[in-house]
Amino acid sequence: MMSYRTTLKEAVKFHGHLGPYLVLGLLAGALALKKLKCKKYFALDVKVFGANKKPKSCLIDGLQLSTGATYGKGNIRKLNNPVIKIKFRNRINNKTITLKFKDSLVQKLNKVKTHRNSEVLARKLYMEDYSELFNLESSI
Ligand SMILES: [Zn+2]
Repeated sequence: MMSYRTTLKEAVKFHGHLGPYLVLGLLAGALALKKLKCKKYFALDVKVFGANKKPKSCLIDGLQLSTGATYGKGNIRKLNNPVIKIKFRNRINNKTITLKFKDSLVQKLNKVKTHRNSEVLARKLYMEDYSELFNLESSI
């Protein structure tokens, strides 16, 4: 689907461990760049809702890696919300997309209780199709 995707190895080198939220950040960011026809690093803003605490906040590192939007540049922010959603905006044309986790995904995430299980789920999610994981709203 994407010509370039952050590898799990690259992600773990940056983040320090492998978990499902990290992987979901990689996938969500790659999907957003593709849908918004957006270049990495400077061409987008990312707002991450409902991912303030670990392990959910691991999502933010996956998003920084995949989109190149970073805290250092100020083009990614986190906001409070009862559920996770991620809003991406193309800074050139103002188009946005918002991703939410599908219920089936939330159920899988909530079942994970051990580090071992979270690694297994992370690897599985990395191989899944985006349409299995996210609901997408867009202004495109
Ligand atoms: Zn983590």
